[in-house]
Amino acid sequence: MRGTVLYGPGDIRFEERETPKIIEPTDAVLRIAATCVCGSDLWPYRGLQPIDGPTPMGHEYCGFIEEVGRAVKSVKPGQFVVGSFAASDNTCAHCRYGYPSSCEHREFMLRAQAPFLRVPLADGTLVSTPGGVPSDDLVPSLLTASDVLGTGWFAADAANVKPGSTVAVVGDGAVGLLGVLSAKQMGAKPIIAMSRHESRQKLAREFGATDIVTERGDEGVARIKELTNGVGADSVLECVGTQESMMQAINAARKGGYVSYVGVPHDVELNGEMLFFSHVHLHGGPAPVRRYLPELIKLVLNKKINPGKVFDLTLPLDQVAEGYRAMDQRRAIKTQLRP
Ligand SMILES: [Zn+2]
Repeated sequence: MRGTVLYGPGDIRFEERETPKIIEPTDAVLRIAATCVCGSDLWPYRGLQPIDGPTPMGHEYCGFIEEVGRAVKSVKPGQFVVGSFAASDNTCAHCRYGYPSSCEHREFMLRAQAPFLRVPLADGTLVSTPGGVPSDDLVPSLLTASDVLGTGWFAADAANVKPGSTVAVVGDGAVGLLGVLSAKQMGAKPIIAMSRHESRQKLAREFGATDIVTERGDEGVARIKELTNGVGADSVLECVGTQESMMQAINAARKGGYVSYVGVPHDVELNGEMLFFSHVHLHGGPAPVRRYLPELIKLVLNKKINPGKVFDLTLPLDQVAEGYRAMDQRRAIKTQLRP
């Protein structure tokens, strides 16, 4: 088979690789129905995160079980499954506390931008769709549950979003947009999206944003204060991972408010005294997507949510290099790839 490999900044190749097979008895091999390019894939693609030689890419996936190891009990060949970007056993203490993305046996998925994928810890990692194989029009939305929706959902959950919460979302990438969708599902109002891009503002509104703030930094914070009676938001979702976005999030929260952070931090440093006087709750990290999968799959299958709308570009898998380019140049919010 051929799969996606990053060789260096801007150098994505779709090239011959070994077809994955069962190695451990707890493995499954999937035939990928759809995969996509993540915002976090752009860090190494842009050379902002070093790579150690040619690196297979992709960690968002859904598809059909092709084969399972002899110890796998919860899924079987032919089933349609969605899995997290982090494989987990779903049995250790961290998993039981609800943090499978910090599982004792965690393995970050790689190699999903390919027609076949080996998934370790299949019983703990994969969730099959109830009611059999879903119709193809639901596949993009099911795919989002694998990471980008699960991460947006965690952003809202970790920021303690409840019915009636005032919410601000920092970041208008796919995760931020699905943070808006998640906050809407959880009953928040108003939902303020921070965005400067017209197409993203439009999607944010479709997903439930009631207000758009185009200003950044101190001006952006001032606008959020204005929109929340001068106090700041109950919940702020930080979906970028830069110093500027983190400070914007902390400063936009009210005293006693909640700030979640789900963008992988790049050179973020927080000052202790600032944190002390900010009086906010902080909760973030790699999203425990596996915890939310059953619920998110159900919401998609019941057509309560349509997160697949974040894919404004769909390409055949062998055109993956163009998929990266389009996101890098911000011509696309998120690229879906179909084998
Ligand atoms: Zn675990």
